[in-house]
Amino acid sequence: MNSNTRTIYIPQMSYVAAKAMSAAFKSVGAEAQPSPDSDERTIELGSKYTSGDECYPEIVTLGNFLKVIEDESFDPKRTAFLLPTSFGPCRYGQYRPLLKKILKDKGLTDVAIVAPHSYDGYEGFESHATNLMRTAWRSVIVSDILRKLQLKTRPYECEPGMTDQVFDQGLNQVCEILAEQGISHKQRLGQLRNRLIDIRDRFRAIPAKYAKTKPLIGIVGEIYCRLNDFSNEFLIRRIEEHGGEVWISDIGEWIWYVNDEQERRIASKGKRFSTEMLIAKIKFWIQKYDEHVLYQPFHDDFKGYEEAEKIREIMAHSEPYLPQSGALGEMVSSIGKAIHLYHKGADGVIDISPFTCMNGIVCEAIFPKVSQDHGNMPIRTFYFDGTQTNIDQDVGIFMEMAQNYMQNKKITRVYPDYFRSTDL
Ligand code: SF4
Repeated sequence: MNSNTRTIYIPQMSYVAAKAMSAAFKSVGAEAQPSPDSDERTIELGSKYTSGDECYPEIVTLGNFLKVIEDESFDPKRTAFLLPTSFGPCRYGQYRPLLKKILKDKGLTDVAIVAPHSYDGYEGFESHATNLMRTAWRSVIVSDILRKLQLKTRPYECEPGMTDQVFDQGLNQVCEILAEQGISHKQRLGQLRNRLIDIRDRFRAIPAKYAKTKPLIGIVGEIYCRLNDFSNEFLIRRIEEHGGEVWISDIGEWIWYVNDEQERRIASKGKRFSTEMLIAKIKFWIQKYDEHVLYQPFHDDFKGYEEAEKIREIMAHSEPYLPQSGALGEMVSSIGKAIHLYHKGADGVIDISPFTCMNGIVCEAIFPKVSQDHGNMPIRTFYFDGTQTNIDQDVGIFMEMAQNYMQNKKITRVYPDYFRSTDL
């Protein structure tokens, strides 16, 4: 690795994912850490360089990078920001050009902007890309697993704070393995699996009253805003405070969706039997294998919380409302996942979206029909732009609707074996 090592700052799409991804970067010799926590200064800085047309996640991401710049230890030659890009109508594709322009205007062209597959200005990194991508995928899986364990345990814990304590300890432990250098992929996978089994057992040992009385609320929506607690005004905690349990769409689901879209694009170019397709398929099989190995010990714990076997099941749910031939992106996965959650016996679905995001607007227009076709399960969009005021009241109203639905719903939720029928 280049001796002039930079610190790569990774946006906190969620803290757990950013920390695990930082560890993956460390495994190939890079210095990496989550970008700073968000606060008022984040919004102040982000808003200073945006016009109001940008989406909220962009303001938060930018604001946190600018906090790095104003830190007294900041050195442009030793700083890199992780910011991949995308094409299409989503404004995410604008994040990188805007950051580049701001850095240029500030005379900070020495700062590098990197993506997991492109390392402009970060010499000596390309040779590590394949290893990094494999470990990064594992970081996504383990962070999804830890989040699932946390969310299914915390609402039932007897001693407040204990779940988060076990979660934090577990996260640090898996990060140590993700960050280890000089071990084979096979060794890392084995170590991660063993560590996850330990962590699973510690979650199982948390004193908790598992009663079948709490409404299960599915969370779908824009990936950054739904996973970043600051951006969604800690909505998950609020739902828990109002007596609910949350099942949030995880990051892995989005990766499967992106992979599937990639294969569809290759096929649509008439390259169904091509090297390009073969590479995409091999990537799919490797990722599936890793996912299977890491999820397998959680078969009993995630009973009733099963994700779709294949992402195409989610897309098939969405098809009558948003045909794949004409719709793309998170709106497709949000509608499809809401229906998947209905079939799993959820008591309501909340779509978390940044204000003015097209995905949220399209979904909001379709949700009444989805609800009508699915037993009138309550579905509601919550928009965020950092100016919410009545959020607790809105959550309270939604939770009442979910409670009512829970009494009369036609689809029975399947619970893990340790659940009881009443509060004891
Ligand atoms: S999905 Fe919406 S909020 Fe997210 S980056 Fe795209 S435009 Fe912005």
